Amino acid sequence: MKTGKLYLIGAGPGDVELLTLRAARVLGECDVVLYDRLTTPEVLALARPDAELIYVGKHDGEQEREQARIFDLIVEHAKLGRRIARLKGGDPLVFGRGAEEWDVATEHGIAVELVPGLSSAIAVPGLAGIPLTFREVSRSFAVVTGHWKTGTNMDWTPYAKIDTLVILMGTKQRVVIAASLIAAGRSTLEPVAFVEQGSLAGQRVVETDLATLAKGEVEVSGPAVMVVGEVVRQRRRFGE
Ligand code: SAH
Repeated sequence: MKTGKLYLIGAGPGDVELLTLRAARVLGECDVVLYDRLTTPEVLALARPDAELIYVGKHDGEQEREQARIFDLIVEHAKLGRRIARLKGGDPLVFGRGAEEWDVATEHGIAVELVPGLSSAIAVPGLAGIPLTFREVSRSFAVVTGHWKTGTNMDWTPYAKIDTLVILMGTKQRVVIAASLIAAGRSTLEPVAFVEQGSLAGQRVVETDLATLAKGEVEVSGPAVMVVGEVVRQRRRFGE
């Protein structure tokens, strides 16, 4: 029986020009494209005109069901001998469960190829003019998820000592995150930036500090990259 192949493709932060040449080529060769909420029409336009485009966006409360559907679609289409492009925002292996899709494919004897992408964790702060490292200001950065099971909290102490924190999926829990970082020893005056829609036309940066954020006084809309650290003060040197 002919078996297809799964291409786990990183689509970068959003702007189609931030796809790699390999991502664009592979996307143009696949028979089926599985895409989600953050995929733009410009990126989808790189698919073959006759490719089957399948939306697999996850909505609150149905993540597990949707993830199970994605696993099924991968197996089903691969068994039909198709090449499947699984488009993922940023890099496929930075959050977003790409490694689990890889495992499911492997368990079913389906070949997998990884096409790395430019992670929003790295690219989006830069596009907002914020360097993640800066001589004498930041020697380290960590990328941390701001998403956890309802009713619990993460232990933030291991991250409190890292110079720059890049928090993905942290918009919803931003107040708790700020309070937890203060409790873990970070200064209340420490600057924080949220970059919404990084690399896209609607890119917007909200700057604040941990104390204001912890009071619940900062509005952020939609997914954003949250940056905590003194490097946020470097922004004006690089920004618009
Ligand atoms: N694999 C992705 C991350 C998936 S988690 C990557 O490497 O970029 C999804 C989170 O990424 C969002 O909640 C948000 O925090 C961030 N994100 C992705 N694209 C973004 C963009 N264009 N602008 C701002 N945040 C983005």
